[in-house]
Amino acid sequence: MYTLGIDIGSTATKGVIMEGGTGIVATAMVDAGTGTSGAQRVLDALFSQSGLSQEDMAYTIATGYGRTRFEPADKQVSELTCHAKGAAWQIPDVQTIIDIGGQDGKAIKMDGMGGMVNFVMNEKCAAGTGRFLDGMARILETSVGNLNDLDLKSTERLRITSTCTVFAESEVISLLSNGAKKEDIAYAIHESVAKRACSLARRVGVNDPVVMTGGVARNQGVVRAIERELGTDVIVPREPQLNGAIGAALLAWQALNRK
Ligand code: ADP
Repeated sequence: MYTLGIDIGSTATKGVIMEGGTGIVATAMVDAGTGTSGAQRVLDALFSQSGLSQEDMAYTIATGYGRTRFEPADKQVSELTCHAKGAAWQIPDVQTIIDIGGQDGKAIKMDGMGGMVNFVMNEKCAAGTGRFLDGMARILETSVGNLNDLDLKSTERLRITSTCTVFAESEVISLLSNGAKKEDIAYAIHESVAKRACSLARRVGVNDPVVMTGGVARNQGVVRAIERELGTDVIVPREPQLNGAIGAALLAWQALNRK
């Protein structure tokens, strides 16, 4: 029996089909979030990959910012619950989860056995989120996928002191016009995102293993900066951006078995 998990985020939509609550049958991801064609495009990709259709889905759970607007869903579940579920499936003894998506950041404290203990969220400010990195990449005339390569070539330490995205952008523009290297700016941008993420994580408590999920975990420059700031290793699951959708598909399997 198949279950579908779909995570309709602020900037990207992610979907996973699982079989029997254990194996992943298909995955899809598009860079278009809530209010766009993202969800339909993810469904089309999932069904063409697997040769299945919505009728074959025994249970569907939607999560993410746009979850309430997804009609085929049997149920909507919060991102926190889905991320906790997905991360614990991938790293069963996870203690601290740092999740950074397009427009928010969260830290979740787990009990090491898959249960959520506590969480904190930053939903009010773009600083320290994917959107901040997307804006910075644009100013540096590169893509978010390339920020890590720049960071790796950094030789000089710079600091971005503004905590507000708009002021931080002005700061980066003035660094560029004063001749600072893009590589050093990328490193400083990652440090600034890491500081925000770590202050969230410290509020719930940091214990190993620490796992990072969400699209921003695909940026190894941010992951290394968090490791430096926390002084510990950070585990990134193989598909960090799919973590919420994986959690949703797993919870769909649980819901089915409860029926
Ligand atoms: P949401 O669920 O809010 O849409 P996601 O968890 O999907 O957010 O993360 C989106 C963010 O992931 C983007 O804002 C971007 O900064 C980051 N991202 C996406 N792809 C990459 C990539 N290839 N490398 C680095 N960062 C990426």
